[in-house]
Amino acid sequence: MKDKGTLVVISGFSGAGKGTVSKALVEKFGYSLSVSATTRQPREGEQDGREYYFKSEDDFLRLIDYNGFIEYAQYVDHYYGTPRKFVEDELEAGHVVILEIEVQGAMKIKEQYPDAILLFITAPSIEVLKNRLIGRGTETAEVVEKRMRRAAEEAESIEQYEFIVSNEEGKLEDCMNTIHSIIESESCRI
Ligand code: 5GP
Repeated sequence: MKDKGTLVVISGFSGAGKGTVSKALVEKFGYSLSVSATTRQPREGEQDGREYYFKSEDDFLRLIDYNGFIEYAQYVDHYYGTPRKFVEDELEAGHVVILEIEVQGAMKIKEQYPDAILLFITAPSIEVLKNRLIGRGTETAEVVEKRMRRAAEEAESIEQYEFIVSNEEGKLEDCMNTIHSIIESESCRI
């Protein structure tokens, strides 16, 4: 059995509901959720330090220079990065830490943390993804299109992931329980 924490990377198409799944996992199973830094603007209802640490591009670049991120990437015109200290402290304390990040970042994590569990969340179909994105109403039509194009690119990286879990309509509980089982069984790996 391992004595340190477990790093769990959750990626998925924009609109697959990975944010909802991650928050629900934290509430139900007490996992720690890493809060990323980003240069994108906050959406309505988002709070600095809760959904993201919202940074100017200058501040973000400075944090890169200070080695403040364990990974960072550009996604549809903005930077996103995982702050190093929180993750290192939580792993040291033996906790399960969830990173909700996109594909390039996930690959960088796997290089540094070979034991990390990489999960990809999908939605039942492209139509469902697009409808969820539009229905969310937080993005302009142009950004929705950019995110859909990015989803098509990310689909090519799915095979790099170890687990694919579908987030079916109305079945959040099933999705969470599946992920919990994966994490539990991985933590027993010799
Ligand atoms: P959104 O703008 O919808 O909140 O996030 C856009 C994308 O950036 C999502 O795929 C999300 O998982 C990803 N993302 C969020 N935080 C990070 C991070 O710290 N690093 C990386 N590489 N991607 C992130």
